Amino acid sequence: MKAVRNALKSIFTAFGVHTWEQAYELLCGNRHTLSIRQHRAELLLNRIYFFASTFAVLTPAWILVDGLVFEWPMWGELALLRLFAGGVFLAIAWQSRRGARLLNARLLLVGLLLLPYLFYFVSDAILSQQPLAGMASGTAQIYRLLPFIIIAGLSLFPLTLVEFALLALPLLVLTLLSAVSMEPFDFNAALSTVWLFLLILGVALISSLNQLRYMISLTSQATYDELTGTLTRRAGIEAMELQFRLAKIRGENIALAFLDLDHFKSLNDRFGHHAGDIALREAGNRIRETLRKVDSVVRWGGEEFILVLPGADCAECRVVLRRLIQAGLGERPDGTPLTASIGVAELRQDRIRYWKQLLELADTRMYQAKEAGRARTLDSDNQELTWEMFRQGVADPA
Ligand code: GH3
Ligand code: MG
Ligand code: MG
Repeated sequence: MKAVRNALKSIFTAFGVHTWEQAYELLCGNRHTLSIRQHRAELLLNRIYFFASTFAVLTPAWILVDGLVFEWPMWGELALLRLFAGGVFLAIAWQSRRGARLLNARLLLVGLLLLPYLFYFVSDAILSQQPLAGMASGTAQIYRLLPFIIIAGLSLFPLTLVEFALLALPLLVLTLLSAVSMEPFDFNAALSTVWLFLLILGVALISSLNQLRYMISLTSQATYDELTGTLTRRAGIEAMELQFRLAKIRGENIALAFLDLDHFKSLNDRFGHHAGDIALREAGNRIRETLRKVDSVVRWGGEEFILVLPGADCAECRVVLRRLIQAGLGERPDGTPLTASIGVAELRQDRIRYWKQLLELADTRMYQAKEAGRARTLDSDNQELTWEMFRQGVADPA
């Protein structure tokens, strides 16, 4: 039992998988974060575009080779088939440029794999009409390699295990069927065909999962700040742009709170950078814990955070801030509470048109809160509330 567990563990480690969570992410995509979905959709569609446009050119171009080696009307029939397939590849390439959505990518991937398979069956029917010899026989053999080329092609896409299985299973069934229906039936030939197919399938699976694993870890590194676990500035910009667009489309509100820790430099100077890092991590954790599920936190700069609050107006924002201030951002090493100056802006009341305006206004109000004496918030009502007022409940909503 222990040997089996160790063997499984070393297989997982070889894939860069160290936790059940990571294993589950390779199994299926329903726990992938929004940014992983988005990046995977973009990557899949870019590759689909590359392959579909390449084959849209190469498939019809091969008509010249067919014309040299096959007799009329066989090459004419193959040419028709090639023109049709080229057209469908072109349509797939065109469709892959419209909207980076995962569903679009998955559907196009099915088309990209099914098309060569249909091509294989129709061309096989055309080529079996009469016995071939010499160059024609050799070229026909290339046509019969198509299933292997298709399955090897799967290795170029970062897919989950479920996606890979769903795409590969029909190809496996078709390969088995064509191996057993071989005329005349040759057991050794059928066995070696299936064996080679399985071998390529295995290698493609490993490559596909590996790509997914590295894509997820690179995306996570670019998305989450290592020290505080909040969104990085880059991912934060994407989140703010997206949430702002959604709020506009849905006719909903959105608020941003810009938060800058007070006198943080003096903490570093007095207690060292390491103590500063610990305090920053604690502040990041506290902020993440107090927010709702729909909210996000961005580490905008060194000790600056942005709270993105979709659907919230000034009053709801105050409720969130009250919860945060009452829970606190942690303490300085000398035991005094760590405070921040916070500027709030909201879409409706501030008549905001672009998301950057929202950010700039929240930033300006944060500076005003600093100048007014720190440890306070300034919001769209132009109301200045100190942390003390929040703690004592004076700033509570009516
Ligand atoms: P103020 O109340 O005016 O904001 O004063 P402040 O000292 O916080 O001033 P400011 O915001 O300009 O300075 C930010 C300081 O935060 C400077 C830098 O030493 C510290 N800092 C930024 N990033 C990090 C970090 O990753 N770790 C640590 N330990 N300190 C950081
Ligand atoms: Mg600062
Ligand atoms: Mg500061």
